[in-house]
Amino acid sequence: MKPLLLIDVDGVLNPMGRPTADFRRYRCTIGNEVYTVHLNPRHGHRLIELALATGSELVWATTWEHHANDWIAPRIGLPSLPVIHMSPDEPSEHGEMFKTPHVAAYAGRRPFVWFDDQVWAEDEEYLRVRQGLRDFLLIHVDPREGLTSRHLGMAHQWLTLTGFSQGP
Ligand SMILES: [Mg+2]
Repeated sequence: MKPLLLIDVDGVLNPMGRPTADFRRYRCTIGNEVYTVHLNPRHGHRLIELALATGSELVWATTWEHHANDWIAPRIGLPSLPVIHMSPDEPSEHGEMFKTPHVAAYAGRRPFVWFDDQVWAEDEEYLRVRQGLRDFLLIHVDPREGLTSRHLGMAHQWLTLTGFSQGP
């Protein structure tokens, strides 16, 4: 079973804080809304590198859903990725984030690493206790700075140490 690398957009690839020189500014038009995002073109390469090194599959776990393939992926050099559908209107039963049940349903028994700025202890507990999942790592990303090499290193190390890595 190929492990999954689940990627959020806002707060992870598009940090909320003042962007550093590594980031470029883009506009995205979705319906009648125009969004400004700041993207680091190196993120795509780094994520692909991690996926190749660990034999993992990159998947979007963002409210951007398939729009991430139109507006985010090409700008950072990622191919079109599978999308976890998120419906934000389901009430939280145990303090978990609205995305977490969708992530659990999508992952099934596959190991996964999830990069998100809104994963907390409640999500960890929900996945372990309510969903009975064990083989996952939640990586909380500081939304002000977004995804860094430290997060990618944590993912690589966990996949390697657990033996879930399918890398060369
Ligand atoms: Mg987010």
